[in-house]
Amino acid sequence: MQGTMLYGPRDIRFEDRPEPTITKSTDAIIRLSATCICGSDLWPYRGIQPIAQPTPMGHEYCGIVEDVGREVKNIKPGQFVVGSFATSDNTCVICKDGYQSSCVHREFMSTAQAPLLRVPLADGTLVATSDLPPKELIPSLLATSDVLGTGWFAAYAANVKPGSKVAVVGDGAVGLLAVLSAKQMGAERIIAMSRHASRQKLAREFGATDIVTERGDQGVARIRELTNGIGADSVLECVGTQESTIQAINSTRPGGYIGYLGVPHGVSLDGEKLFFAHVHLHGGPAPVRRYLPKLIELVWDGKIKPGKVFDLTLPLAQVAEGYRAMDERRAIKTLLRP
Ligand SMILES: [Zn+2]
Repeated sequence: MQGTMLYGPRDIRFEDRPEPTITKSTDAIIRLSATCICGSDLWPYRGIQPIAQPTPMGHEYCGIVEDVGREVKNIKPGQFVVGSFATSDNTCVICKDGYQSSCVHREFMSTAQAPLLRVPLADGTLVATSDLPPKELIPSLLATSDVLGTGWFAAYAANVKPGSKVAVVGDGAVGLLAVLSAKQMGAERIIAMSRHASRQKLAREFGATDIVTERGDQGVARIRELTNGIGADSVLECVGTQESTIQAINSTRPGGYIGYLGVPHGVSLDGEKLFFAHVHLHGGPAPVRRYLPKLIELVWDGKIKPGKVFDLTLPLAQVAEGYRAMDERRAIKTLLRP
């Protein structure tokens, strides 16, 4: 088969790769219905997070089970499944607590931009749908695998509740789906920070009530103006830079909550400023597995359409163009069809 490899900055190749096989009795092999490119894939792609050697790419996936190891009990060949970017046994004490992305047996998926994928700990990692999904649901089901689950965790970590006043920092796919998640959790006001017309439009479709185009101190001032001068109850930080993190902290009311989901790159916080900000900080790799059953159900019942974040669909063989389009911000998120 052919799969996606990153060789260095902006050097993506679609080339011959060994076909995955069952290597542990708890594995499953799935044939992907769709995969996609993550905002976090752009960090190594841009060379900001350099790689030591050619690296297989991809961690968002859904598809049909081809084969399972002999210890796999619940997942069966022929089922349609979605899994998280982090594998989990779903039985250890950390998993039981809802933090499957820090499972004691966790592995990070990294070979999903390919037609076939080996998924370790299949019973704990994968969630099967009741039937094979209709084609039009595939993009939204794929979105539950990471980008929606991550946006959902942002809203959860930031304590979004009915009536909350929410600000979302970042208009990438995660930020946009954080807007959708905050709406589902009953937020009354959702302020999306975005400068791009197409992203503003999607943010409004997903439930944003206000758009703020300013950044930095001016962005903070606008959020305060919109929240009676005190700051938002919940701020969802979906970027991970120093500027966006400071902006998130300064936009939060004393006693408020920040959910931070952008993988931090070069972020360092001033302890004293943080102390006097008087905020709750909660973040980390999203425990997508915790939310998968619920998110799959919301998609299945037509209540949410997170697949709208995919504004570019390409054959998997054109994966390099998919990266370029996202790097140049011509696309919000690229869906790849094997
Ligand atoms: Zn576990």
